[in-house]
Amino acid sequence: MRHDAVNQVSRIFLIILLVSLAGIGLIMAQALGFGLPDANGVWPQGVVGKAWDRQVALISGHAGNDSGAVCEDADGNVLVTEAEINAHVANLAAERLRRAGADVTILDEYDDRLEGLRAAVLVSLHADSCIDASGFKAAVHTYSAIPTINERLLGCIERSYSAATGLPHHPNTVTHNMTEYHAFKRIDPLTPAAIIELGFLGGDQALLVNQPELAAKGVADGILCFFEGEKEPTP
Ligand SMILES: [Zn+2]
Repeated sequence: MRHDAVNQVSRIFLIILLVSLAGIGLIMAQALGFGLPDANGVWPQGVVGKAWDRQVALISGHAGNDSGAVCEDADGNVLVTEAEINAHVANLAAERLRRAGADVTILDEYDDRLEGLRAAVLVSLHADSCIDASGFKAAVHTYSAIPTINERLLGCIERSYSAATGLPHHPNTVTHNMTEYHAFKRIDPLTPAAIIELGFLGGDQALLVNQPELAAKGVADGILCFFEGEKEPTP
């Protein structure tokens, strides 16, 4: 009888030990980029050598300033604001990039730190209006001091974002607000920079609200693609 009780206790301890070990193993595997999510919780993608310790700045569009586009239902109840979508996607993209090893800072729309900003890359996240249209678009500065580098960044963002989200490219609505975006004029001219409109809050609302991980993966993959395509600096 007593013997049984001792056995019982040690069995329970053994189970606790195994569960803890499995938990630790899972956490380590995740840190290395193995394991879980998806079915659109996405995840995986671990450390990326060329992203290691690189300075990435993301602007969470409209943060600290205004709500951006605001979509309401017929009764005037707010369904979604652009600023909250931008912030959500910026946070998720930052998480992915940190998993890759990058040093990520999320900035407000008119953040003081934009002045003369030196970073490996800056990407500003916005979303389009509440109209019933679908598609994303990205742009770089028309008067960039590093046009070739910025074009490569733009190509990476466009390909990666389209692959991750399945959204169509909607380039015909790129505006001067994008190509002459205020932040492009404030940062160090040698900092590669782009702005992306993640989709329309109208036609793409389901994706932006319910699957922001996909948008975040698109942004993060675009930046990782940019890093991976960099030539080794010639000494
Ligand atoms: Zn905006």
